Parts: sequence; C-alpha cells; structure tokens
Amino acid sequence: MRIVLLGAPGSGKGTQAKRLMEKHGIPQISTGDILRAAVASGSELGRKAKAVMDAGQLVSDEIMLGIISERLDQPDAANGFILDGFPRTEQQAQDLEALLERKGQPLDAAVLMDIDFDVLTKRLTGRRTCSKTGKLLNIYFSPKEEIEACLQAGGELVQREDDREETIAKRLEVYRSQTEPVIAFYRARGKLRTIDADGSMDEVTERLEAALAAPGRGSGLGS
Ligand code: AMP
Repeated sequence: MRIVLLGAPGSGKGTQAKRLMEKHGIPQISTGDILRAAVASGSELGRKAKAVMDAGQLVSDEIMLGIISERLDQPDAANGFILDGFPRTEQQAQDLEALLERKGQPLDAAVLMDIDFDVLTKRLTGRRTCSKTGKLLNIYFSPKEEIEACLQAGGELVQREDDREETIAKRLEVYRSQTEPVIAFYRARGKLRTIDADGSMDEVTERLEAALAAPGRGSGLGS
C-alpha cells in the first residue's frame, strides 16, 4: 500500500498515519518529523530548516525532494509507505510522481482528511496541557469536569509555543495557498479519496480504512 495523507495542520494526519503503520506494517514517513530530527541534530539541513519552520513557512521543494527520495530508498519503504506532510506543493506532487514512476511503484491513493476550518482553528488554538498532570486538554472540546479537575489539582492550562494564534494562522494560510492545489492534482489523476476528519480518533480510523478498502479507479490497494 502506497498512500499519501492530505489535510490541513491539525486534521489528524499524524495520529492516523501512526495507526495505519501499526495495522499494515508499513512505515509512516512524516517530513515534519524528519525536519524536526534534523533541527535537533544541528545538521546543516536542520540549521537551514529551523528559521523557515519557526515562521510557519515551507522548506524549499528542492530540499524536500532530496529528503523524500533518500527516505524512499530505504529498505523499509520497499513494501509500501504512508506519506504524512508530503507533498505540500504542486511541484512536490509532480516530483513524487516522477520519482515513483522511475521506481515502478506508483501511488495507490491520496486520502484527504477533510475538516472545517473553524473546527481546525479551535482544535489548534484551544489545545492546552495541564501543568500538573500532563493531560492534553482542549478548552473548547474537553469535558468541563476534566478542565476543572486540572485546575482544582492546582494545575495551569499551558499553551504550546507553536499553538499560538499568529503561527497557526500563518500555517493555515500557507496550507490554503500552497497545499490545496495538491488536492486537485490527485483528483485529476483519479487517486483522490476524501474522508470526514471531524470525529473521534476511532471513528476517523474506521472511515480511513473504509476509504482505502473501497475499489478505486486505479490499481488495487493490496499491500
Ligand atoms: P508538520 O509537522 O508536517 O506540520 O511540519 C512542520 C513544518 O515542517 C512545516 O510547517 C514546514 O515548515 C516543514 N515541512 C514539513 N513537511 C514539508 C514539506 N513537504 N514541504 C515543505 N516544508 C515542510
């Protein structure tokens, strides 16, 4: 199974990609994780990427092509993969198509995790961690009792640096202008499948599995 998960930041791609990886035994390839590891290692790539990532912008297509072709050459990707966070521009989608064509391993499907922008903004801006228990909460969606339990235990609701409204707004704007064209790219090739990403983690996993099991216009999805 060779698939791409598409969706805005906060749509749940990472969570669902991990679940698919465990179930199907194929790697989740998250370009965000690869870049964060490069930043942590202090490599030249990491130094270049850090400023761009902190600003909520995209790392160049050229750098991303190098990263993804190296990663897809590793043996664990030979039997399939789940791409999470790549491609993020139309150019990256074209580069990926050419790369996979050369390998004789075309993509089976691109699944769009569709979610309302208002829900998305609330998911991201409302996210807090309880300073006392470490529990992940959301000021808009968590049950009142869970939020009160944290406060009564003497905890504070702490917001992550990159969940601030300004950075989120920038990332969503970049998604709209640069990544949304990728949806049309896969639709034109008959590879796009869309699922409703608003729901519990289990509900969304079920929808995702159903979308992958459904017969497509291209080749089958047998891994
Ligand atoms: P993510 O964890 O997927 O949200 O990625 C975090 C950040 O890494 C993004 O905001 C971008 O700055 C950068 N990044 C990840 N994947 C890509 C990509 N395919 N193309 C360009 N930049 C990327």
